[in-house]
Amino acid sequence: MATKPKSPESFSTSVDRMADRAFAALDLDPGIASVIKACEAIIEVNFPVPIKGKIEIFTGWRATHSSHRLPAKGGLRFAPAVNQDEVEALAALMTYKCAIVDVPFGGSKGGLMIDPAKYDRDEMQLITRRFARELIRKGFLSPSTNVPAPDMGTGEREMAWIADTYKQLNPENLNYAACVTGKPVQHGGIAGRTEATGRGVVYVMREFFRHPEDVKAAGLNGGLAGKRVVLQGLGNVGCHTGHLLQDEDRAKIIALVEKDGALINTDGLHVQQIREYMNTHKTIRGFPGAMFTENGRAVLEMECDILIPAAMEAQITEENAPRINTKLIVEAANGPLTFEADEILRKRNITILPDALVNAGGVTVSYFEWIRNLSHIRFGRMERRYDEMRGEYLIAAMQSLSGKPVSDDMRREIVKGAAELDLVRSGLDDTMRHAYQEMREVLLTNPKVTDYRTAAYVVAISKIARSYFDLGTF
Ligand code: NAD
Repeated sequence: MATKPKSPESFSTSVDRMADRAFAALDLDPGIASVIKACEAIIEVNFPVPIKGKIEIFTGWRATHSSHRLPAKGGLRFAPAVNQDEVEALAALMTYKCAIVDVPFGGSKGGLMIDPAKYDRDEMQLITRRFARELIRKGFLSPSTNVPAPDMGTGEREMAWIADTYKQLNPENLNYAACVTGKPVQHGGIAGRTEATGRGVVYVMREFFRHPEDVKAAGLNGGLAGKRVVLQGLGNVGCHTGHLLQDEDRAKIIALVEKDGALINTDGLHVQQIREYMNTHKTIRGFPGAMFTENGRAVLEMECDILIPAAMEAQITEENAPRINTKLIVEAANGPLTFEADEILRKRNITILPDALVNAGGVTVSYFEWIRNLSHIRFGRMERRYDEMRGEYLIAAMQSLSGKPVSDDMRREIVKGAAELDLVRSGLDDTMRHAYQEMREVLLTNPKVTDYRTAAYVVAISKIARSYFDLGTF
């Protein structure tokens, strides 16, 4: 297959080279590997929007990396430096990610070159709606073919505007709400989507710590409690990851790296308080009770048990990889390690839990949201009260058989019917655990696989190759 040459340093080359290790471990025909790696389609749009009385031209992309399963799924990123290669790389990651967590979608990603901080709410709405119209008209956005979700620089607000734009252009489509996920709950979103990626990161970490042999192989011991964590990025993913680790797992966030510097406190930082401070002051500088340094990048090299890059790609490169001083790297962001950094860290026996698994919680709950939109009913609506009634019968039976009263706490737990949020978290936990176990199984059984990333790619590529084969692609 003839494909456009890529720069050797590019993000998409890095993703391809990581996947190549898995192709080698699987002994797959190079032709099949090229089919799986190639980006199926990409569109670039340039569109004008009147801003403060002047016309500004915006450039955006949407890539469909694979459509062996439909719709193709992937976030929409609003950032000043976004580019076509980045969008293609992230779309490829989505293909692998969906396969790893058994979400029946192809891979896609979109980006708009914009600094959202420079525009007010009304301007952002105009720009987002216009971008959505371009993608809809050109066949790159619909409930059945291509479904965006939030990523860096976008959130519920943008997703609601996109869904409404689609609805206006397709008033006859009953399923319009499924054209995008990550919407506000009152506009067809699902409880638990906003926290899903961060929560999924923590579920993977908990599963890792349930396997003492895996923990020992990483040079660690015990559980998450008391582990010293350096966290980079306090956006959607970083914030939820950090606060769950701190509040539910009693891990210690000893440093937090943001774009304008880092905060350090070896006794532990309070993630939500820092987030609130950041919301008010637009910086972490000056947050009380912690040491501030402008050199955030150097803080990634601080000694810790677990390093969690949750900000953006290419944060650990061949330049700083030799100095990274941790036992375990948990890739909450997409592509935080370059291929070269990954090679160096592997040789240094630093354990890496890969992005394609670790941050797949977002697309998993997006899948739940998409199903909810197509079924037009919230999860748990039919059975919740029925389950509660069964719980009451169960308690009555227990009391009459034992002759003893059931305690109030036990009664509450037995009687409680699952709300949508309970079901979403349960489905997410199950998905992340199962995916970790599949990846682990490959690592334990395939002698050519010696790291978690290659194992995760082997899981993904085996499923994708099978799907292409069944469809007669090769
Ligand atoms: P976000 O925009 O909400 O947050 C990113 C945070 O990183 C911001 O607080 C920003 O200030 C900070 N940051 C930016 N550059 C930095 C730098 N050089 N050093 C330190 N901090 C920096 O984005 P997000 O949605 O949290 O996404 C973060 C990463 O996770 C991205 O790689 C994204 O692709 C990935 N991801 C996000 C989701 C999701 O559901 N949001 C799902 C899967 C993967």
